[in-house]
Amino acid sequence: MFLTGKVAVVTGASRGIGHACALALAREGALVVVNYFDGADQLRETERAIDSTLEEIAKAGGEAVACEGDVANPETAALLMDCAVKTFGGVDILVNNAGICPFHDFLDISVELLDRVTRVNYYGTFLCSQAAARKMVEQQRGGSIIAISSISAMVGGALQTHYTPTKAAVRSLMQSIAIVLGPHGIRCNSVMPGTIETDINREDLAQPGKREYFEKRIPLGRLGAPRDIADVVTFLCSDRAGYVNGSEILVDGGMFVNLQ
Ligand code: NAP
Repeated sequence: MFLTGKVAVVTGASRGIGHACALALAREGALVVVNYFDGADQLRETERAIDSTLEEIAKAGGEAVACEGDVANPETAALLMDCAVKTFGGVDILVNNAGICPFHDFLDISVELLDRVTRVNYYGTFLCSQAAARKMVEQQRGGSIIAISSISAMVGGALQTHYTPTKAAVRSLMQSIAIVLGPHGIRCNSVMPGTIETDINREDLAQPGKREYFEKRIPLGRLGAPRDIADVVTFLCSDRAGYVNGSEILVDGGMFVNLQ
């Protein structure tokens, strides 16, 4: 139990990587605020998903509370931190996971779509990090802030021209706030997943030959699982990573270095 008694906030924890992070942190003894967003078009599905996150955490002997909010809404960040303080007495860990990647042709991307992706992925991470940092500085007991960036912070994507810059932005944000918050004992780092099988890329991976292409391209011979990311997040949140600050860890099975 690396994180006994630590209070963690995980954004976008209803599915995929966020779900796995919330579960992994709870298994290590953290008390977790699991954020989810009731998009009007998918209300029931999301409620079911967040219920299953809570159930799995309870089954694992952990403790968690759900807190609804769109991270793109500037009010959500303070709401999440208040929920952590009221329920568990503080905030020690923030995992900025919530993100969207609606694949789209560059030539057709509307201002509205560009705005939404930027607000969820970048503004959400900025505002939640700022709200968590305010509490952590006040508490004077350090902390850990993590952004789920992406391999896309380092490479382009033809259908992700609105998305990849947001992942580079959150990596850069972690570097800058690592400098500001280091003196308070608050470490800020990024995790860069490669291709992890979740709902975000399910349609893309279903295209003929796509999965086989990735399996061939990735030296470890398999796509990533959400748990692969959650394990690294858990390490970065723990004291074992006590001297890791302003850094990033690429978790891609070796895909990035396999160029030739
Ligand atoms: P996912 O399965 O689609 O999960 C995304 C999560 O974010 C969902 O729980 C979703 O909630 C939540 N979310 C979306 N918009 C939100 C908002 N406005 N406010 C609060 N929560 C919101 O995708 P994933 O693969 O786990 O992605 C998680 C993170 O990893 C993202 O930041 C993504 O960019 C990053 N990433 C993923 C991969 C990959 O290959 N999968 C690679 C690199 C980076 P709902 O259930 O309510 O929609």
